[in-house]
Amino acid sequence: MGKLDGRVVLVTGAARGQGEQEARLFAAEGAKVVVADVLDEQGEALAKELGASASYVHLDVGDEADWSAAVGAAKSAYGRIDGLVNNAGILRFNSLVDTPLEEFMQVVRVNQVGCFLGIKTVAAAMEDGGTIVNTASYTAVTGMAAVGTYAATKHAILGLTRVAALELADRRIRVNAMCPGAIDTAMSNPAQLDPDADTEGMSRALDELYRKLVPLGRIGKPAEVARLALFLTSDDSSYITGQPFVIDGGWLAGVSVF
Ligand code: NAD
Repeated sequence: MGKLDGRVVLVTGAARGQGEQEARLFAAEGAKVVVADVLDEQGEALAKELGASASYVHLDVGDEADWSAAVGAAKSAYGRIDGLVNNAGILRFNSLVDTPLEEFMQVVRVNQVGCFLGIKTVAAAMEDGGTIVNTASYTAVTGMAAVGTYAATKHAILGLTRVAALELADRRIRVNAMCPGAIDTAMSNPAQLDPDADTEGMSRALDELYRKLVPLGRIGKPAEVARLALFLTSDDSSYITGQPFVIDGGWLAGVSVF
């Protein structure tokens, strides 16, 4: 018995990183997974590897027509849709005063509009009793210099989460948010995208950095976030809705003077 037997879940940004781990774990727990991304080659390869448990769809989360097509593809492949993980996201580094409007809007389009369109399109087509998990960030609950645009969109995702939870509760659709701290993916460790890079060495260097910053002494793993996404998508969280869940190794617990 898997925790997601019989459920159909769409995961955005699932070609790599946290979304990939969510797709793998959900498939292992019995779900049919719609792997959605703009990285077609990687997404298709993942869906192929997962076999009968998955299919790939091209989905730019900022494009409403893409959302309609993705939901249509999920319904025609599996007949229903029970879950959504809004995972796709992008990060840009800049101080607020140096951020061009175009860059601000680019991040808003993917992180915030993408999440809004996902809720809007998928909830309308979803079975009653379904689940939506939005990927925010620890920058949704605290400030962080140099990522102001990103932090603004992640704060907005918590607002969308709470309102969607209220508006969809009468259909028993639960909506929650994950707030990961630093997680070892290409977003925090771009060297992963360089085939010649020493990714293990880079991960060790990041561990060393986060050993000083994070109480648990290391960067998080995408598989750890996937387990939180599974909890929020399965009946294990049946009485939880409208909440942010911080998963950060204790980074936001407070300051330490020693
Ligand atoms: P990642 O860069 O490896 O994965 C992001 C995925 O989103 C990629 O597969 C990318 O192709 C996809 N994507 C980007 N733009 C898209 C679009 N317009 N439409 C569809 N897909 C798109 O990074 P990750 O760490 O796996 O990020 C997953 C989520 O976790 C993001 O929302 C990110 O903001 C959030 N997050 C990451 C960290 C971290 O430290 N890595 C921390 C907190 C929150």
